[in-house]
Parts: sequence; C-alpha cells; structure tokens
Amino acid sequence: MFDFPERYRVPFDGSFKLQEAKTYEDHAETEEELNDQLKKLVKKIDKFQQTLYAADQYSLLLVFQAMDAAGKDSTIKAILKGVNPAGCQVFSFKQPSVEELDHDFLWRTARCLPERGRIGVFNRSYYEEVLVVRVHPNYLAGQNLPKVSKLDQLWEERYESIKDHEKHLARNGTVILKFWLNVSKQEQKNRFLSRLDEQNKNWKFSAGDVMERQHWDEYMAAYENALNATSSKYAPWYAIPADDKAYMRVAVADTIVKALEGLHLEYPEVSTEEQAKFAEARRLLEAEESAR
Ligand code: ATP
Ligand code: MG
Repeated sequence: MFDFPERYRVPFDGSFKLQEAKTYEDHAETEEELNDQLKKLVKKIDKFQQTLYAADQYSLLLVFQAMDAAGKDSTIKAILKGVNPAGCQVFSFKQPSVEELDHDFLWRTARCLPERGRIGVFNRSYYEEVLVVRVHPNYLAGQNLPKVSKLDQLWEERYESIKDHEKHLARNGTVILKFWLNVSKQEQKNRFLSRLDEQNKNWKFSAGDVMERQHWDEYMAAYENALNATSSKYAPWYAIPADDKAYMRVAVADTIVKALEGLHLEYPEVSTEEQAKFAEARRLLEAEESAR
C-alpha cells in the first residue's frame, strides 16, 4: 500500500498543481481487501478516540470539501461507523441562514468546533466562502460587507483569516486534517446518471448540481488557489483521488490514523492520592460483598 499521508498531502509552499493531482490511482488491492483494511483502520480510530477522550487534551477536526457526488457523505459514514457516537459529531454546512449571514464568515463553523477529547467532522465548511462564493461572487451581496476595491483582495484576506483561525485552533489543541475528495468530471457525470437511472438513488439527484457542473473549471481554479493558500503544517490539506470509493476511504482513514498515532496519546496517570482513594473504594466494595 502507498505511504498515504505524504503521498496526497498538499505541499505547504504553494506548489500544488491541480492538473497533476490524481482522481484515480492504480492499486493492486481488490475492493474486498480495501474494505478489510478499512475495517481495521476504523477499529484503530475508535481506540484512539477513547484515548483522545480520556487524555482530554486534543480534539480532532476533519474537514471535507468536494464537488457534488464525490462521496463526502458516504466517506464520513464509512469512517465513523464503529466509532463511539458519543465521541464524535458531524456538521453539514449548506447555504447560510439569515442569522449566519449577519455574522463574520467563520462564526457558524466556530460554534460547531469539537470540544477537547472529541472528533468533529465538517461536511463542507468555511472553505465554501472561498469556493462556491468565489465562483458565484453575487452571493457576497447577501453578506453586506464593507466595500473592497478589488475582489482578489477579499479572497486573499479570507485565506489569511482562515490560516490565522486554524493556527489559533492548532495552538489550542485542535488537530486539523482537511480532505479534498478529488473526483473527475467524467466520474461525476457517471454518478449523476446513475442517480437518474436507479430509482432508489433518485432522491439524491438535484438538477441544480448539473448546472453547477458547468462551472467546473472555475471551481477547479478556486480549489487550486485555496488549497495552495491554506495547506499548512497546522492544518494540512490532502487531495485524495475519489473516483474509486473503496480506495479513497482507506486513504482518508489511514491519514487519520497516522495523525492520531503522531499525538502519542496516553491515558492520564492516576496520582498517588487518587490511588489511595481507589484502595479505600475497593475496601468499601469488598466489605459490602462479605457483609451479604
Ligand atoms: P448532498 O447533495 O449530498 O445532500 P450537499 O452538501 O451537496 O449534500 P446541498 O444542500 O445539495 O448539500 O448543497 C449545499 C449547497 O450549499 C452547496 O452547493 C454549497 O456550495 C452551498 N453552500 C455551502 N456553504 C455556502 C456558503 N457559505 N455560501 C453559499 N453557498 C454555500
Ligand atoms: Mg448537493
């Protein structure tokens, strides 16, 4: 298997070229083998989640961004299946509400950040503000912002705000991993067509998604810019090939496991004082048994 985190990590020096990022990777494993690997990785994530919770020092934030039908929902589901639901939370960010538009663009996601010891997942995120909004700058009208002379300045300022925000979070114990699920235009078309063909997938189809597809190149340019501007050691981006879902899920899960391993999490040590209390508790419990 490949050396995942490094293979797909977007470099921190702005040299990422979207044209060169793979949407499909040749691999020797069968789908079954990949699914077995995924199961093992999910088990590890669950174990790490327990120590993350016990250590209560770090939280993990997973950000997912992608074009429609890339498999954000199913990847999140596959990765969190088997992880204690009390320890993780998923938030999906769609078109902002009036209340959300009345605040700065980091407000709505900041309210949903994971508490220490938890795993938080963002299905779309504040990155929409430099992706969909960049492709459709008319959305800015609803935000009623102070005027800027050039739109380019606004995007640069947003990147800066995002970087500062992420650095701040990292310093305070949030481990951030960001995944761009890189689906090809052809594969998106196949998936849309199967949503039309298969009755039980009809509900997933939205005519608007086909309209959005017409802006494919603009989206790719916005992604390339955003990933280059905001991939950092505090919050690295991973550009994961998404045309093969089984492979993509293993790549994402493995990246998460490696990041958690890197934290060297340990269960908190019990102080001698606490140990003395434990001994007393044991004595009381055992006395109960013998009294019966
Ligand atoms: P699915 O289609 O699988 O249900 P989804 O995430 O595509 O999931 P939709 O309701 O189809 O959900 O789409 C949400 C839409 O909201 C996307 O087109 C996204 O670009 C848009 N969106 C998200 N954040 C913003 C934002 N800050 N400003 C404008 N549009 C946004
Ligand atoms: Mg959608």
